[in-house]
Amino acid sequence: MKFFTLSFDDGIEQDKRLINLMKRYGLSGTFNLNSGLLGKRHDFANISHIPKDEVPEVYAGFEVASHGFKHEMYQFMSGNKTRETLSQDFQELSSIMGYKIKGHAYPYGMQTKAAESYLKSQNVLYARKVSGKSELFRFPENPLSYVPTCWFNAKNVMELLDQFIKAEPSSENMLFMMWGHSYEMDMGFRPCPEPQLERIFSKIAGKPGITYCTNKEAFEGASN
Ligand SMILES: [Zn+2]
Repeated sequence: MKFFTLSFDDGIEQDKRLINLMKRYGLSGTFNLNSGLLGKRHDFANISHIPKDEVPEVYAGFEVASHGFKHEMYQFMSGNKTRETLSQDFQELSSIMGYKIKGHAYPYGMQTKAAESYLKSQNVLYARKVSGKSELFRFPENPLSYVPTCWFNAKNVMELLDQFIKAEPSSENMLFMMWGHSYEMDMGFRPCPEPQLERIFSKIAGKPGITYCTNKEAFEGASN
């Protein structure tokens, strides 16, 4: 099977616009939230985290996953502190959403042994990084160390989408996971304004043979 999914980080106000676009194109995906930052505003930029009481409604129909209680840098924390903060984030998000959170996106893409072993002990299905050698369309050997296909504003995103659309289904399941931050529609290193994002979405949407789903559904689907 060919799975296509989106993975967006930080749980910010612009997610609402992104979700409207995703719905318009029939796309699904996962939002990685920091439960310790809900409702917080950053003065340095137009970034506000969605308040706790709005979270269940905003993300209804999509998957919510963990992204670290306060977006911690695990590399600079003790193993105990890492486990504590991860446990807090999973508990808080599970209680807000009313289901068990099954996925994680490492804050800053920082995968550490302590973080990974905690996630494993909790039977977390998958954990996403940002940098490293992309798995392209492969499911990773270690689902707790997954480098996604591409950033949504990668220079070669259209070529990658073409390759994925044309790829013949084989005995191996395939995964295209596109990651980013919805504030990148407005600003950032290389902004991706809405019309550009729509070109990306309209290219991939509605293709026969592709399953549009959340990260969790992709990893579950591939293991069945
Ligand atoms: Zn983040």
